[in-house]
Amino acid sequence: MRMRSSSLNCGKITRFGSRVGAKAYQALFPKEGFSQIGFDQVGHEPKFTGQRAVANASPNNGGSQAKFAVDARARRQQRIRFLRSGAQRHKRLADELDRCRRGHRCKSEADPVCAGLYWQKVRRAVNPVLSGKSWTRALIVTAGLSKPYGRLGEFDLAAAVESVRERFARSGLRDRIIIGVVDISLCLRNGKIIGWQLHLDLLIEGNDRPRLQKAIEAAFPAEPKAPRPYLFANVTDPEKTLAQLYTSKFFRRSWHTVKRKVSTAKLPLTASDLQELLAFLGGYPVGARLLRNGLLWDGNLLVPARMRSE
Ligand SMILES: [Zn+2]
Repeated sequence: MRMRSSSLNCGKITRFGSRVGAKAYQALFPKEGFSQIGFDQVGHEPKFTGQRAVANASPNNGGSQAKFAVDARARRQQRIRFLRSGAQRHKRLADELDRCRRGHRCKSEADPVCAGLYWQKVRRAVNPVLSGKSWTRALIVTAGLSKPYGRLGEFDLAAAVESVRERFARSGLRDRIIIGVVDISLCLRNGKIIGWQLHLDLLIEGNDRPRLQKAIEAAFPAEPKAPRPYLFANVTDPEKTLAQLYTSKFFRRSWHTVKRKVSTAKLPLTASDLQELLAFLGGYPVGARLLRNGLLWDGNLLVPARMRSE
């Protein structure tokens, strides 16, 4: 079936040719991060309807901002309802998220509340390091981080994160501070599901683009199926970018090739997509998707490793 984005009310489709421009960048790095005070916006996560996902609360389809804005708690409730309609293991995860309270946090990657609290802690810990330096944001789709649909549970996230950290340490990036996350999307090409793709969304010290780009491409070979395996952007407000890096909102990313030009669209996950993804994330504690290089925990702060060793 060919995905007709307009019928799914996903709204914005960004087209771009051989050069990756600002529009393409925005399509892949939407303003979807947690807000300054918390995590009060829900993305295209599907409205619970039992079987099918319907994206009817997006600002892209004329829905009001107020309708669009649902806090992380509401999103968690929505996820619990999705999980309760699934198999036994999904129901168990629903119970786990449902029991999460202040003082008794579930600390699960599947919980948008705990994920948001975790990232607030990381932001507070990292923000002092950000000022006075230049930064680049990089989205990297590297080979070896994909799984077919229905088999995401076979992926070892902890091993993948460890491998990425080791690659930072061995590469031309080793002396740079890097903070970022492993993000996950379900990729479609010309309407067909390709599979789950894990990708890296990073804030990297420095804006010496050609050198930085070369080091990244050497350390992280491109995923052959990804039409745009590397995207880079200058960062003018690193604190704001940091706030946007870690998100507990996940999407289908659909690519079309029309007359040798690539179009991309972000679509909502369906109920079964979300069950598979949450079951996977629920196997890990918050922070399991964190990537860092050159930063060490020192009490409540993440401090540059090179400063600490002096
Ligand atoms: Zn929780």
